[in-house]
Formats: sequence, structure tokens, C-alpha cells
Amino acid sequence: MRVVVYRNEISHQWEKRNLLARWRAGAVTRDTVCDADFLLVTAARYHGTPATGSCPVCESDQLREVLWIHGDGLGRMSGTARSAAEIEEIVSTGRELRVHTVEVCPVCRWNHLLREVSASAT
Ligand SMILES: [Zn+2]
Repeated sequence: MRVVVYRNEISHQWEKRNLLARWRAGAVTRDTVCDADFLLVTAARYHGTPATGSCPVCESDQLREVLWIHGDGLGRMSGTARSAAEIEEIVSTGRELRVHTVEVCPVCRWNHLLREVSASAT
């Protein structure tokens, strides 16, 4: 049985709330908060899983969470979107990586890093 251990989690919920508060107050424009590029939106469509709740900007129910992996030992896989199953597969080969969970709305292109965590095999 393969078991992935997740540790050293860093939450970015505070930054997200802070940015949304500034947007609601008119301090930042919608273009600034809704700046997901083509790659991110495509990754959200094909690799994303439905997020809990609706988009905080446009209230669409299409909001998704995408997992991006980063790591020195990953080679060209570093900086790509992966499913949870693929991450488990990679970790089972003994490699350690950082997983960034990014919230993306394909409708208005809102996006924000939610949390990052280290993943490794037991
Ligand atoms: Zn949206």
C-alpha cells in the first residue's frame, strides 16, 4: 500500500481574503484579481477538481482547485498540474515534492494560491 505523507503546510487563506477585501473596496481592479493565463485556465478545466463553494468574484459554480507540483528532483515535471493519483505515483518513486493548490475560476479567470504542502512517501 502506498501512503503519501503531507507536511509543512502553508496556508494562503489570509492573503486571499485580504486581496478580495481590497478588490471589494475598489483598491484593486477586477483585471488584477482575474488574471489567470491560458495555461492555468486549461489546467483547471482538465486537471481541476470542483472547489467547495462558488467563485468569490463572479459567483460561478465552475470554481476549481488545481494541484501544481514543484521540486528539484522532478525535472520537466516541475511546474506542471497533476491529479492526486499522479502525485501519489510520483511520490511512491521516492521523490519529494511541493504541492501548490490553486483555486481557479475558468469563467472570470479569478485565481489564487490556497496552500502549499510537502509530499513524500512514508
Ligand atoms: Zn469567477
